[in-house]
Amino acid sequence: MGLVTLKEILKIHDGAVGAFSTYDQYSAQGIIEGAEEAGLPVILMIGSGPLNKPGNDYVGQIMVQLAKEASVPVCVFLDHSKDYKTCLKAIKLGFSAVMIDGSHLSLEENIAITNKVTEAAQALGVSVEAELGALAGIEDGEEVKQAKMTDPTHVEEFLGKTDVDGLAVSIGNAHGLYKGEPKLDFERLQTIAGISQDVPLILHGGTGLTLAQFAKGVELGIKKINIGTEVKKTYIEAFINTHEKNVSSYDMVEIPQACKKAVAKMVKENLEFFANGWRKLI
Ligand SMILES: [Zn+2]
Repeated sequence: MGLVTLKEILKIHDGAVGAFSTYDQYSAQGIIEGAEEAGLPVILMIGSGPLNKPGNDYVGQIMVQLAKEASVPVCVFLDHSKDYKTCLKAIKLGFSAVMIDGSHLSLEENIAITNKVTEAAQALGVSVEAELGALAGIEDGEEVKQAKMTDPTHVEEFLGKTDVDGLAVSIGNAHGLYKGEPKLDFERLQTIAGISQDVPLILHGGTGLTLAQFAKGVELGIKKINIGTEVKKTYIEAFINTHEKNVSSYDMVEIPQACKKAVAKMVKENLEFFANGWRKLI
């Protein structure tokens, strides 16, 4: 129990493991409490943007400490780092996995930066996730306008020349809120899964996808599902609703507790569906 790597956590059960974005102590506690209530492993992640804000090394330290004390396996994960330096920072903070996102680079450059990070990370027992193909949408303030679906012919070359513990794919999924109903290219996912073999596939942009889409994705080989926007939405709605019940109290004791509880409930439901519930929809 406690802190485990991405490589280890994705082998615990044969469904997918939820990865949830955190921003502060309360969201991190909510995510871990939800996992403990479900009795399931969880991935606690922070984006490189939020981690690099002044003072937020402390959020990283809290994440690592909470993971060590958890009664379920927890992977502490750096999400979407475009640079080597932030990966090293997370490794020094005690994270058990980092994502190097070279999806905006050429295939050759993506391979090169992925290998540079993997060499440093794996020497210290830290897992690495990479990405091929880019997602549209806004991730913690950074906007990517044009999606670039993962090219299956690139997957074989990329995985042959790297040694990663997970690969994020772009199959019509997007960051932020979907405009209209999201459409996923499952045929593409199936082709990629046939090539990737033992390397776990990762689905980003989970917020707004339907249960049927999650189920199909897990059936075809998705092992990790990222949820960011849903965490923010759940937290901020709980904040506003609790504050509005007694506006004059400005209750800094109970409002964060309500946010934490709301996040825990959302996390528990998602973890249960990704681990087991999906089977009923197949
Ligand atoms: Zn992402």
